[in-house]
This record gives sequence, structure tokens and C-alpha cells, in this order.
Amino acid sequence: MQYVKEIVAYGPRPIGSEHHKKVEDYILTHVRGDNCELDDFEINTSEGRFPVHNIIAKFPGTRPGIIVIASHYDTNWPLRNENYVGANDGASSSALLLEIANQLRGKKRDGYSVWLLWDDAEESMKLPWDDNESLYGVRHLAQKWQDDGTIKNVKAFLLEDMIGDADLNIERDSVSTSWLEDLIYRAATQVGYQSHFFKREMSVTDDHVPFLERGVPSADLIDFDYGYNNVFWHTTQDSVDKLSPKSLAIVGTVTLETERLLDQR
Ligand SMILES: [Zn+2]
Repeated sequence: MQYVKEIVAYGPRPIGSEHHKKVEDYILTHVRGDNCELDDFEINTSEGRFPVHNIIAKFPGTRPGIIVIASHYDTNWPLRNENYVGANDGASSSALLLEIANQLRGKKRDGYSVWLLWDDAEESMKLPWDDNESLYGVRHLAQKWQDDGTIKNVKAFLLEDMIGDADLNIERDSVSTSWLEDLIYRAATQVGYQSHFFKREMSVTDDHVPFLERGVPSADLIDFDYGYNNVFWHTTQDSVDKLSPKSLAIVGTVTLETERLLDQR
């Protein structure tokens, strides 16, 4: 939760902005001692040309294969001039990944390698959502890893998005890989948090799509009921006071348990 507050304190972080650069540096400072891959490139959009920066921290395991856990850290370009800080949408999951890094660091992993991905330019350049002007970071990285052969080693892609809501209800996403969704539910049940998971099914377009399209088993852990009928989503109401450290702990625990079940598969 402290990490969420620190990310949010920089203010709105749309791509190409000074605050965005500060959050990039903030994440990099945390993973400085880890094995990192930086995926930097530029995109042309209807709003101009922008730099994009994906950050990947790699924690090696003993078993061949990789589990990727991802979160976007940018906020919406169209909301750049409002005081929109995306406490839940972007900051909560990016903070959770920083803590997962703390949990993985310095321990010998008897299982797949875990790569944590802070991806960029997830948010749409236009509102409402535009499929052609969003998911830039992950689309680029999925293609890069397809071209260099990395993608065939990715055993699972777990996406975290909007996971800090104090009233936590993680959706069962119908486009995610169903056996992986089943495994997440098993993990949630094993750690006693199943009541927060999968009571509602819906279809979500999110950063897992470019990996799904390339045949990688992928799942989106997302709570798309943020406030009454999602009323806080993409508004200045998306602030830290709506979140709970308990929700971060639930999703973090279930994510690590899912990773453990994947290792055993
Ligand atoms: Zn968003």
C-alpha cells in the first residue's frame, strides 16, 4: 500500500510526461539489483509520437519455462489535464508487482522462472476505448518475444489490473484461458479467498490479449466493479481512499499460490 501511495504521489502519469518518467525511475530503482530487460521504443498515435518503456525483472527458476506476471503503470492520455492518478487502475497492480519482487528476490526458485513485467501505454489514447490505440507496450513485447523465440517458453501470462478495490470482486474473464482460470480459482480456494473470485463472468479487453492471440495461456485478474457499477473507473474518484491493503494481500497471495500450482503442473 505504501508503494501505491508513492506512485500516486507523482500525479497523473500519461505516456511522454515528466511524471511518467519519474514513475519509470521509481520502478527501476526498486529492481536495480535484479536481472532486468528494458523494452524501449516509440509509437505513432493520432495524438503524436511517444516513447514507450516496458520494464521486465527476471527471477530465474530451476525448471525450463517462464511465468510472466504483468501490470501497466501508465495513466490515460485523455485524462492528462485532470487530477486523475489511477490509484486502482495502474498503481495498485504496479505496487503489488514491486512487493512480489521483494518476495522472490534472493530465494532459490524450484520451478519456472518468474518475470515481472511493468508494461507501458496500456491505456487507450482515446476515450471511449479504442482497440487500435491501446495496449501498445504489451503488443510490442509479445511481438518481440515471438520474433526472438522467447514466447514459446512462456507457460503462463498472469495479468493484474484494478486489484486494490476495498470491495474486491475479481471477475472470471471469458476470453482468458479457461484451465488457467480454473487453476486461479483452485489457488484462491486453497488460501481461503475464493469468495472474492469469479462470481461474475465477463469478457475483458486488456493486456493479456496480445499473448492470448499468440497461443500463450493467459488470465486477467481484474475487478471491473470499482464503486457502484464501476463509477470510479477512469475518473478523478480513482484515489487511494477507495483501496485496501487487504485486497492487495489477497490478490498477491492468490497470485503466488497460482504460481506454485503452475510449478507443480
Ligand atoms: Zn484504465
